[in-house]
Amino acid sequence: MAIRVPSRQLFIGGEWREPILKKRIPIINPATEQIVGDIPAATAEDVEIAVEAARKAFSRNKGQDWPSTSGAYRAKYLRAIAAKITERKSELGKLEVIDCGKPLDEALWDMDDVAGCFEYYADLAEGLDAKQKAPVSLPMETFKSYVHKEPLGVVALITPWNYPLLMGAWKVAPALAAGCTAILKPSELASVTCLELADVCREVGLPPGVLNILTGFGTEAGAPLASHPHVDKVAFTGSSATGSKIMTSAAQMIKPVSMELGGKSPIIVFEDVDLDKAAEWTLFGCFWTNGQICSATSRLLVHESIASEFLDRLVKWTKKIKISDPFEEGCRLGPVVSGGQAKSQCYEKVLEFIATAKREGATILSGGDRPKHLTTGFFVEPTIITDVTTSMQIWREEVFGPVLCVKTFATEDEAIELANDTHYGLGAAVISNDLERCDRVTKAFRAGIVWINCSQPCFCQAPWGGIKRSGFGRELGEWGLENYLSVKQVTQYI
Ligand code: NAD
Repeated sequence: MAIRVPSRQLFIGGEWREPILKKRIPIINPATEQIVGDIPAATAEDVEIAVEAARKAFSRNKGQDWPSTSGAYRAKYLRAIAAKITERKSELGKLEVIDCGKPLDEALWDMDDVAGCFEYYADLAEGLDAKQKAPVSLPMETFKSYVHKEPLGVVALITPWNYPLLMGAWKVAPALAAGCTAILKPSELASVTCLELADVCREVGLPPGVLNILTGFGTEAGAPLASHPHVDKVAFTGSSATGSKIMTSAAQMIKPVSMELGGKSPIIVFEDVDLDKAAEWTLFGCFWTNGQICSATSRLLVHESIASEFLDRLVKWTKKIKISDPFEEGCRLGPVVSGGQAKSQCYEKVLEFIATAKREGATILSGGDRPKHLTTGFFVEPTIITDVTTSMQIWREEVFGPVLCVKTFATEDEAIELANDTHYGLGAAVISNDLERCDRVTKAFRAGIVWINCSQPCFCQAPWGGIKRSGFGRELGEWGLENYLSVKQVTQYI
């Protein structure tokens, strides 16, 4: 597929700026392993300039600054961004495929979700104006109190590579809606569409400095940004290990953070299900986006009475999944995002997880290797692993690849115990025709998101986030907006 990757610079103060050290990072198409362009690599010097630009846009001395504008005013920009994303959907979708390897139709759906997210927060921005000066009832008549909701300030938004533009939108849209100014730092592995978002902001005339976009490595650009004393909040999505580092540096300045981290989510399949429907959701829940979803339901707990038949069905269907170049018609599984010479070798990591599972005594029921028909690209077969014990690495750690591990259970209590046997607490799914049982299991799950008779659907109106080592704070919905607001109490003596 011939598509040119635009050559871009950092986006700071409404302008393209070459990084001070002039460094660039190659973009490798994970399906072909070819270099298809490069992105600028920001360092601490560029972070300094970007934070200053965002501070200037936030400063309250001209009356025209971003935080003093009305929600309705900011909504106009968010809607204009949404319209441009929709206009450029096909081009952006293709760029995302080249950058992170997901099938084209998935990338195009993501672009619809990006536009929908900006539209949704435009609505909430408009709603904010009416919510100002909300009265607080007091027990004394000599005082009256009300509440102002104000933007938190300059925010750093640090995102991963699995949904490059969508993860950016989940943070940029509510931050700007709230009246914050922002610096977005996408992943060095997939930044192309975020740089195009910069171009969109330029096209719609977003005031300079309101959104700045810095691409670069985590240690060189992300760390100085997160620890910058003039950044008022860090909203982070990524691995638990990086989240922990950011929290440590934020602690020095009592800086608020919100954390969307990793997961090892369970899916429980009870004996009363329609096997075909349950198999469909199980495969979708683990192999969608190649298993590179934080909430992938990658631990299957299946009732022992149906396990054999259910697994036969899963294996049969898994073998039919089309693994190919993500631009090919009907492709369901593309390559994982990186490998070979890249700093973060996801391909090698996924295969190492599978090899360790084998060494520890698990059985590879299906997949487990590179597909024979693809000699280049970071492709891994969708893999199903059985004979897993709860002490194995494959049961405990996030693979972030197309790997499903399976255990059987005999009772509801046992299923719940196994489901909650993890440091993580992001998603959890239950499949059963007995809705009372689903309700009991839902309450017992230690997770931030529960799916009943499905896995993975996500709507920008509903809160998203986890507990335990999957993080804290909620994105999306009204909760996503609150992430970027602070509450000011005003009390008057009358
Ligand atoms: P990562 O932690 O390696 O990187 C995430 C971002 O942090 C990147 O932009 C990276 O450059 C930056 N970074 C790295 N080191 C940094 C540092 N020291 N200081 C500041 N920034 C730094 O994660 P990844 O490999 O890009 O993404 C995969 C992870 O993201 C998985 O664990 C997945 O579960 C998680 N994730 C979570 C959610 C969620 O909603 N909970 C959504 C998507 C992905």
